[in-house]
Amino acid sequence: MKLTNIGTVKALMEKHGIKFQKKFGQNFLINEDVPIRIAEECGATENDYVLEIGPGIGTLTRELCSVAKKVVAVEIDTGLIPVLEETLADFDNVEVINADIMKTDIKALFDEKFVGGDVYVCANLPYYITTPILMLLLESRLPFKKMTFMVQKEVADRLCSDSKDGDYGAVTASVSYYGKVKKLFNVSAGNFMPAPKVDSAVIQITVYDEPPVKVEDEKLFFRVIKAAFEQRRKTLINALSGKVGLSKEQIAESAADAGLDENIRGERLDIADFARLSDIIKKKQNEE
Ligand code: SAM
Repeated sequence: MKLTNIGTVKALMEKHGIKFQKKFGQNFLINEDVPIRIAEECGATENDYVLEIGPGIGTLTRELCSVAKKVVAVEIDTGLIPVLEETLADFDNVEVINADIMKTDIKALFDEKFVGGDVYVCANLPYYITTPILMLLLESRLPFKKMTFMVQKEVADRLCSDSKDGDYGAVTASVSYYGKVKKLFNVSAGNFMPAPKVDSAVIQITVYDEPPVKVEDEKLFFRVIKAAFEQRRKTLINALSGKVGLSKEQIAESAADAGLDENIRGERLDIADFARLSDIIKKKQNEE
C-alpha cells in the first residue's frame, strides 16, 4: 500500500467518509522518500521504541514500524482510527491510541508502554501546536533519546539559531536547556496534501542527560527567559522590570553582577547568561 500516492489518499478518505481536518493541522506527506528518510535518521533500531504523535493515515508510522521494535502512535482524530486499522494491518508492532497528546499523561504512557528499551520520538507535527507539544515532551523530563520532528521551516530556523542570530527567541533558549537541536533537511510545501502555505524542515533534538547549565530555580529561569524576549525592543533591564518581583534598580544590579552590559537586549544572552542572571535574581529575591 503506497500511502504517499495522491489517488490512494483520496480513495482511503472517501471509503472511510472523512475529510482533511484543518483544525488538527492535517497535511499528509505525499513524497515517499521523506518518511523513509525520517525513519532512517530518527535513530531508532530494532531494539527501540518510538512514540509517534499524529500518525494521520499512517504514512510515517509504517516506515517507523519497519525500523523499530514497537511504535506507539497517538492520534487525536477519531475519524482516522479506522483508516489506521486498515493501513497498519500488516504490522504487529504498532499500537494506536486515540487521544490528544496535550491531555495525555506522558509519564504514565512511558512507564506502561516502553519497558526495556530506548525510546525515540518522531512526528510530522501539526503546526498549530508545535511549541506546546515540544515543551510538553521536554518538560516531562522523560529519558527520550532523540526527538525528530517535521516543523514549519521558520520554527526550525528559530530552534537552530544562537544568541547572535536574528531568529533566536525564547523558545530557542528554553529548548537549548533540554537538548541539542540540529536541522536534518528541508521539505517544501508541495510534498504535502493539502499543501500548506509554508515550507517545512525536519529537526532533531538530542536530549541531554543533564542540562548544560545548573540553575537554582528552574521556574524563575524560564520566567526570566520569557520576560527577556517578550518586548524585544526593550533593554534586558527594562524588559525584566516588574516581571520578577524586583525593582528596576535591583534588576540593574543583578545584570551588572552577572557581567552584563546595562544596555544589552535579551536576545544577546545565551542560556549560560540566563542561568547566571536568574541565580543572582533568586539570591536578591531571598534577601528581600
Ligand atoms: N504523520 C502524518 C503524515 O506525516 O502524513 C500526518 C501529519 S499531520 C501534519 C499532523 C497529525 O497530527 C494529524 O494526523 C492530526 O490529526 C494529528 N494531531 C493534531 N493535533 C493533535 C494532538 N493534539 N494530539 C495528537 N494528534 C494530533
